[in-house]
Amino acid sequence: MAASGRAPWQVRLAGVQPETLAVRAGYDAGPYGEHTEPIYLSSSFMHDDAAHAAAKFAGEVDGFIYSRFRNPTVRVFQDRLAALEGAESCMSAASGMAAIHAVIMSLTGAGDHIVCSQAVFGTTVSVLGLFERYDVSTTYVKIDDLAAWEAAIRPETRFLFVESPANPSTEIADIRALARLAHDRGILLVVDNTFCTPALQQPLKLGADIVVHSATKYLDGQGRVMGGAVLGSNPYMKEKLEPVLRHTGPALSAFNAWILLGGLQTLPVRMRAQSDNALAVARWLEAQPGVKRVFYPGLESHPQHALAVSQQSGFGPVLAFEVQGDTPEVARQHAWAVVNGCRVISVTANLGDVKTTITHPGSTTHARMSPEAKAAAGIGEGQLRMAIGLESPDDICADLARGLAHVVS
Ligand SMILES: *Cc1c(COP(=O)(O)O)cnc(C)c1O
Repeated sequence: MAASGRAPWQVRLAGVQPETLAVRAGYDAGPYGEHTEPIYLSSSFMHDDAAHAAAKFAGEVDGFIYSRFRNPTVRVFQDRLAALEGAESCMSAASGMAAIHAVIMSLTGAGDHIVCSQAVFGTTVSVLGLFERYDVSTTYVKIDDLAAWEAAIRPETRFLFVESPANPSTEIADIRALARLAHDRGILLVVDNTFCTPALQQPLKLGADIVVHSATKYLDGQGRVMGGAVLGSNPYMKEKLEPVLRHTGPALSAFNAWILLGGLQTLPVRMRAQSDNALAVARWLEAQPGVKRVFYPGLESHPQHALAVSQQSGFGPVLAFEVQGDTPEVARQHAWAVVNGCRVISVTANLGDVKTTITHPGSTTHARMSPEAKAAAGIGEGQLRMAIGLESPDDICADLARGLAHVVS
């Protein structure tokens, strides 16, 4: 994009729908007229002459210098994701955690404070823990307790951090209300939009200031590469985030950006189909005698179904359910029987794939939590979490039925 004015793709694609942006945004063909975005595997870039080099280094003209902070293939990915999220600007990173780490670094200094939902990705909690040594502290609050969020804000608080829907409980954060609260107190709202992706939820349009992604999950969509991204305003990127990412160097590789570009092209279709499959599996689970409860924002029985409808355009691939069991031990036995009965579904804590996965959070992802913390996060011994993929929902249900037969007998 020229320093002034709009890129040709922006002019051509003015006013088009998200599905069209997913396929085409961010890209203008080069001198060979290639139809597919090329991979620029080049660590550095040349300048026309000394004056051109000086102008590029001074930021006076558009261009590429070094792939640690700018690469043509990576830029197409950034521009396409920004178009999908409705963001002014996007900067990518080598992983979701690199993106989250850079955001925390960009917004805090010694003495500062963060308020975070209890139900965020476990490694996010680990990274926030690392910041304690720099005197940046975090208070954790229940995702849907607005009064608790408000009470936790101090004069030193710099931002609120939330992930919605929460994993594995599928509780929903009221993003509009949290944005209002943050702005009333002169601070920012950061949303991890990994689970919904812009295909189902656009937090910036709901009032959030910054969105982060693990692109490793649904943006890739087929479990191939690691990636991350941060989206927000031009001033935030230029003044706060760019100095961190440019100098610390967690750069997304051009190859990974190219894979992710292909992922974005099918994102709206995949997220719609996987949401439909998840709803079908959730409804089927609700009707099974061995199942005590199903957690899925698309079900009318979900306590925040109306909120989900008001801020998401689909309910996503992730669901959880609890199998029957009179004691925690029996509940765990039953849950493990369901896992062990699976022949099609992958037994892995990973998600974001077109392959359906199942995991028992109580003994894997959340095993190190104390019983009290598990209870607070709504993780019972009978609970299983699934990320529904693109297989036939009939086959997924048949796979689950095998283990569930042990629960009722
Ligand atoms: C996986 C994940 C992350 C971390 O992303 P990586 O790409 O694994 O570093 C952050 N947030 C959420 C919600 C995730 O699922």
